[in-house]
Amino acid sequence: MSRYPKRASVVVIGGGIQGLSCAFNLALRGIGGVVVLDAGYWQGGASGRNGTLIRGGFASPEWTRFFGHSNQCWMNLAKTLGHNPMFTRRGYAMIGETPKTAAMLEGALKIHAENGVISRRLDGGGVRQILPAIAAERVTSAIHFRDGGVAPHHAPMKAYLAACRARGVQVHYRSKVTGIETENGRASAVVVGDHRIDADAVLIAAGAFSPEMAKLAGVTLAGYPMRIEAMALEPTRPMIGPALALIDRLAYMHQTGRGEVVGGIEVPERPRPSLKTDLPVMTGTAKVYFEMFPALAQVRIMRHWGGMLHISPDYGPLLGPHPALRDLWITAGWSYGYSGAPGAGDLIGKAMATGQTDDRMAPFAVDRFDRGKPVRELGIVLATD
Ligand SMILES: Cc1cc2nc3c(=O)[nH]c(=O)nc-3n(C[C@H](O)[C@H](O)[C@H](O)COP(=O)(O)OP(=O)(O)OC[C@H]3O[C@@H](n4cnc5c(N)ncnc54)[C@H](O)[C@@H]3O)c2cc1C
Repeated sequence: MSRYPKRASVVVIGGGIQGLSCAFNLALRGIGGVVVLDAGYWQGGASGRNGTLIRGGFASPEWTRFFGHSNQCWMNLAKTLGHNPMFTRRGYAMIGETPKTAAMLEGALKIHAENGVISRRLDGGGVRQILPAIAAERVTSAIHFRDGGVAPHHAPMKAYLAACRARGVQVHYRSKVTGIETENGRASAVVVGDHRIDADAVLIAAGAFSPEMAKLAGVTLAGYPMRIEAMALEPTRPMIGPALALIDRLAYMHQTGRGEVVGGIEVPERPRPSLKTDLPVMTGTAKVYFEMFPALAQVRIMRHWGGMLHISPDYGPLLGPHPALRDLWITAGWSYGYSGAPGAGDLIGKAMATGQTDDRMAPFAVDRFDRGKPVRELGIVLATD
């Protein structure tokens, strides 16, 4: 007998943090018969390979409204899931070294205040207080989010998986989707191995492979797969308090409870579906660490790894129904999809269950490029054009 059901209310393609969060929220809203299919192993995608940094504020109102909501969801996540995702509200700082970034951060402070995200400007003394080991002479501007932080990936992934299963969601790893069938202008079934699951709706949450999944349904999804890399240093005494985005270096980092400094830099990449790591990115990251935290100069690199993202034309997520095929839903295009997962699950769950699109999700509609409405965001650490 097959381990898959013959029919499902919703088939979610991808069991990363996005897929699990959406599946959980669908079940929470009373939708039974949700099935999650993942081609790989638990935590095998970007959700088990990321920097684990979480923040609510960016430089645009659209990103700030959405991620501010998701940050709030992170803060309540243990209660919502009934399992501990180990979110540590240790704060998050955005650091600038150029006048351009100072201007961006100044504008961002105003946007945060207008959209309910708590942030504050840090002067030199404030920077030295929370980051005593930083090369403070390089820092010309900084802001701090009280409610940002980190969560080690295994914890929310385990919490979401357990919460999904407790609510009757079937989650299957090692289950590659090879077809999405359509009928009368709607997504009607999903093919996995020799099996076919009839579905009332299909949700693509396949990370870097989301455009490929859309193709299976005969539609397109803007963007391309891209590799990014991260590394961990050997443990040292605590020297980095909050999670950090070093905006002018395209770098992010934090220090784990074990004392390892984890993070990476972004470099311009061509579309590349690969998990291979490169020496230039590793040495580039080491250079940033050394210049910004000279005390790290003698610390050894312990691990270095790659992960893949789906990069959309404006680097923002693609959220909601696909405009060209009924009953096909999307949560893709994620570069900050770890931060954004609890919020995306909540708002996609609401939209699929009630048909209502929340205002915080609407700017990220899948068809925004066709309508000439990309969302411009300058507060991201990503090698943009
Ligand atoms: C090095 C690195 C650092 C990062 N740092 C941060 C950070 O600090 N903060 C932050 O917010 N974000 C960060 N991100 C981004 C974040 O990890 C992603 O945006 C997020 O994990 C996306 O979640 P997802 O569930 O969409 O994708 P994934 O976790 O990649 O899950 C997609 C799943 O789809 C499955 N799949 C693919 N094809 C098929 C198929 N044919 N059938 C079935 N399943 C399929 C895959 O097996 C995979 O498990 C980082 C990413 C990387 C790589």
